[in-house]
Amino acid sequence: MESSIIGYSRGDLSAKTFQAFNPRTGKNLSANYAHASEDDVSRACDLAKNSALELAQLDGKSKGIFLRTLASGIEEIIDDLVVTMMAETGLPEPRVRAEAGRTSGQLRMFAELVEEGSWVDARIDLGQADRQPLPKPDLRSMLRPIGPVAVFCASNFPLAFSVAGGDSASAWAAGCPVLVKAHHAHPGTALLIGQKVVESLKACNWPEGSFSLLFGDGRTIGKSLVEHPAIKAVGFTGSRTGGRALFDLASKRREPIPVFAEMSSINPIFVFSGMSTEQTEEFASGLLGSATLGVGQFCTNPGVVFHPGGEWGDHFAKLYSRMMQEISASPMLHDGILSAYENGLNSLSSCEGVKSLHRASSKEIVEGSFAGTCVMQTNARDFLADEAMMEEVFGPSTLLVSYESQEEMQKLAKVLEGQLTVSLFGKDIDLKKYGELVAILETKAGRLLFNQFPTGVEVCPSIVHGGPYPSTSDSRSTSVGTGAIFRFSRPVCFQGFPNDWLPDELKDENPLALRRSEG
Ligand code: NAP
Repeated sequence: MESSIIGYSRGDLSAKTFQAFNPRTGKNLSANYAHASEDDVSRACDLAKNSALELAQLDGKSKGIFLRTLASGIEEIIDDLVVTMMAETGLPEPRVRAEAGRTSGQLRMFAELVEEGSWVDARIDLGQADRQPLPKPDLRSMLRPIGPVAVFCASNFPLAFSVAGGDSASAWAAGCPVLVKAHHAHPGTALLIGQKVVESLKACNWPEGSFSLLFGDGRTIGKSLVEHPAIKAVGFTGSRTGGRALFDLASKRREPIPVFAEMSSINPIFVFSGMSTEQTEEFASGLLGSATLGVGQFCTNPGVVFHPGGEWGDHFAKLYSRMMQEISASPMLHDGILSAYENGLNSLSSCEGVKSLHRASSKEIVEGSFAGTCVMQTNARDFLADEAMMEEVFGPSTLLVSYESQEEMQKLAKVLEGQLTVSLFGKDIDLKKYGELVAILETKAGRLLFNQFPTGVEVCPSIVHGGPYPSTSDSRSTSVGTGAIFRFSRPVCFQGFPNDWLPDELKDENPLALRRSEG
């Protein structure tokens, strides 16, 4: 039986255990995992608290060495990851390899960021003893680590947003200990990566407590973790219910802490006007690829398309639903996601004015958690009358909503909740014609796309993977790209300190040659 990883040792072998499940066969996998005990959680949090000061003193070079060691370590175990992750998630081998590559790539991206060092946003205001009417003190500020971070593994990214994924990488890069709550759907994958993390930490002489991995339920282990006084921030990707529950728990603590939860988004697409036959086919097949990628289990999956009604709209809807019918059912990550998908479709189809153009039945197709595709249709008037249609349906389905006028399109934009992405399809000149609509949409999403589909998130400095609530719990943040590090850091100002004492980032002579703001 496997247990949690607590610092550099293993957790209790408690009586309560669980197994992962193969969504392709519908059968449980043989390995048993013990739920962490409350004592495991306390030990992990105490170790993290004790290691936090030492981690905070590490320079960018030392952090870079660890992040690069871990990136190479993940590449060394890729064959084991392929076997375990495919069995636990039903994802195909190319996806596992691509996600492992993204995970190592993210770790190296943060290594580069902290080795260069300017991310600390050093600001220097030199003192002026002779300023009138009062002298100006010497003030220097920079970003410092926030402290131990609790990370919840995402079901839909077993590597890139799990044990050593973007949340953990950005927290380590900031200089924070990381405590991971594994997802029950892929514990074996979590353990393989967790063991590599420990090996890499030891190789780089990082303190015990820089990392722990906890198995167990969200409502017990996850709750205890978020409520523990040692924890200073939370990173989460998952459902709106789960993210909101953690946010509420964190807000009710004696010391409330920030929760960076990436939750639900329907990623609407606005089509400005009808298209030629060739463009329509290209658009429909691009939409199909994006909506069914990874069985629709991406946070940026485009769930709703607002398009002009009339002849073009009817032609597009028929073409698109014919194309969706060709897609065979595929396994979802776990049976909970499949039942949430089915419930979501049932509730959508019961809304007034919603017509099903195509719905493949899911479970009947084969054993296991296979999901079929679905296309539903309604019009703007009915959509505007029922906010249930704005709920995320996580899976390979699309709701097509026809509108009759520019005013109606604007009303649709105004009622939208916060989104990770909004995509616009049209001609360059339309951006001017629909300028007000674009301005409204900018207030609704973290990323606006023009004539492109939202899946396939580029990991780079300028990406924003965030947005107003409910797409995330903090619209000022991104969970992808180098900007993710700012979630786990806080500004500290040093006033009146002698140059010798100051951190290198703030010294007069700028020994690290950073980009700084100096006044
Ligand atoms: P989830 O149910 O939100 O679970 C994610 C993690 O949070 C799990 O570790 C879970 O613990 C924990 N958790 C959930 N509710 C909690 C609570 N009340 N208190 C403490 N911890 C809690 O997400 P999921 O399992 O990944 O998928 C379920 C649904 O979430 C999907 O069907 C989909 O609708 C949505 N989802 C959305 C996105 C997105 O990016 N938009 C991504 C993934 C999933 P347990 O281990 O006990 O479950």
